[in-house]
Amino acid sequence: MELSVTDNTRPQASLENLMGHDRQALEEYFQSLGEKPFRATQILKWVHQQSTYNFSEMTNLSKSLRASLSERASFILPEIINDQVSEDGTRKWLLRLEDGNSIETVFIPEAARGTLCVSSQVGCALNCSFCATARQGFNRNLTSAEIIGQLRLANQLLVSPDNDRPITNVVMMGMGEPMLNYDNVVRAMRLMQEDFAYGLSKRRVTLSTSGLLPQMQRLSKECPVSLAVSLHAPDDELRNELVPINRKYPIQELMQACRDYTKGLPHQKITFEYVMLAGVNDSDTQARKLAKVLGNVPCKLNLIPFNSFAGSGYSSSSLTRINHFRDILMQKGIMTVTRKTRGEEIDAACGQLAGKFTDRTSRTKRFQQVTITGDIH
Ligand code: SAH
Repeated sequence: MELSVTDNTRPQASLENLMGHDRQALEEYFQSLGEKPFRATQILKWVHQQSTYNFSEMTNLSKSLRASLSERASFILPEIINDQVSEDGTRKWLLRLEDGNSIETVFIPEAARGTLCVSSQVGCALNCSFCATARQGFNRNLTSAEIIGQLRLANQLLVSPDNDRPITNVVMMGMGEPMLNYDNVVRAMRLMQEDFAYGLSKRRVTLSTSGLLPQMQRLSKECPVSLAVSLHAPDDELRNELVPINRKYPIQELMQACRDYTKGLPHQKITFEYVMLAGVNDSDTQARKLAKVLGNVPCKLNLIPFNSFAGSGYSSSSLTRINHFRDILMQKGIMTVTRKTRGEEIDAACGQLAGKFTDRTSRTKRFQQVTITGDIH
């Protein structure tokens, strides 16, 4: 399938890629060409709802506008280089970007909904000790075109005559820390919510963060989607080790930022994610501590069985332990669910995503040394 489509013969590099332009950006683009702003909604519909990328097929634009757009703009999508389906129906795509880097996107079908897990960066700079993406280091931020391109491609591949809305939810939980690519992520999330594009309500778009406070404050005002926070520990000492950004934004400040996020947004609850690591963060005492920490934040808690990867040095808590941990939290009034692991055999589960790219930090080297000594805690 030809996925990077333009309808002229000039090299693509000289054409502006409009794939990631939200309505406002398109309106400004058309105004700069001396065109009426309503052209923006026409283009959004063609591209994001009709999968039409050739200006020549956009029949409600004048011939001369089609010709001049073909001269200057295009819609470029990542290229699919691998497509895997797991036994439970979870599907993972490896996507190649224009610069040769690759990223992963995962589709998780359920009875009443379909969730797409979208990446925001090539790799991740945050270095959480239990995450496979972190091991690979960081290369660069994705553009808004590359972020929305994941939804565009998945939608195009999944849509069928029996199911015209295969993707009902998007979670920014793939590779990367979305808050460290704030502008591009927000622009892509606006497109997700745009009526003339994907029309997802803000409840159906979730951003997962390890807890960057200034960006959480901005997001609550600028694009208040559902928020998930990767907590993973009930106290600063342990969280500093598992989620190093905690040294900058410790738990009490994070909880205050979470309370602030929910203010003014009726029924908004924060989803806390907590990966269950055997013998590390899964004791009864830690469950009780966690209940206290979460006590006055409107929230629900997701316990995530740890998904292992080579050389991680961790193992998952047993199901019995996870259930017991959950029961303690439930007794203390915290709504707690255990997240079902999906797509594990194709490495599509939480924290297992790892595209192909070169690390641009010195992290990989450091980790190789750590793995050899076997000491990652
Ligand atoms: N950087 C963002 C989003 C990406 S990770 C964040 O930190 O929230 C999505 C979720 O998967 C996070 O809660 C992350 O902590 C969790 N995760 C990472 N590695 C994991 C692993 N090996 N097993 C289970 N969950 C993991």
